[in-house]
Amino acid sequence: MKLLHDKIMQEGKVLSSSVLKVDSFLNHQIDPMLMKEIGHEFANRFSDQVITKILTIESSGIAPSVMLGLEIGAPVVFARKRKSLTLSDNLYSSKVHSFTKNETNDISVSRNFLNEDDNILIIDDFLANGEAVKGLLDIAAQAGANVVGVGIVIEKGFQDGGKLLREQGVRVESLAIVDSLEDGKVTFAAEARA
Ligand code: 5GP
Repeated sequence: MKLLHDKIMQEGKVLSSSVLKVDSFLNHQIDPMLMKEIGHEFANRFSDQVITKILTIESSGIAPSVMLGLEIGAPVVFARKRKSLTLSDNLYSSKVHSFTKNETNDISVSRNFLNEDDNILIIDDFLANGEAVKGLLDIAAQAGANVVGVGIVIEKGFQDGGKLLREQGVRVESLAIVDSLEDGKVTFAAEARA
């Protein structure tokens, strides 16, 4: 997705050979115009599917998910990373190891918002080792729901998550695939340049 590639090139900061910082448009400040286009692009890519719920994880998955939800008229459910006083039982939960924070968190979703009639599209901001998506797949499985695919804003193709998920037969659509962050430079995978 050209707009996203351009934005990453202009504003992305390479923190190390494995971490890309995009806090000026996705992870802290949010660019609503870009998010709108991202929502539109996800809707196009999954236009062959009936989607009843979008499932993401707080906080950076929420903005692109809501824009997609507006396009396709489906609600967004976000997994919470911390237990809240109002979300104490009646939960699906799973353990997720965070690549950037190097800690393991329980993520949870109320049983009120996902069930076996749902066709779920999972959305997240980044795909690295696939831990967050695996946690969301686990929650969807606990609900007995069908998962139509996974939409990722930025996949780091040099980490294993995308390969592992695709090998398991999960449909993964990434709007930008970063091939390398070596030498402080962002290089995109050729197939994702369109
Ligand atoms: P995974 O669970 O696939 O290993 O990592 C994905 C999660 O870690 C995403 O939800 C994202 O929050 C975070 N993450 C992984 N790599 C990066 C990165 O290079 N930059 C940023 N900003 N977040 C990342």
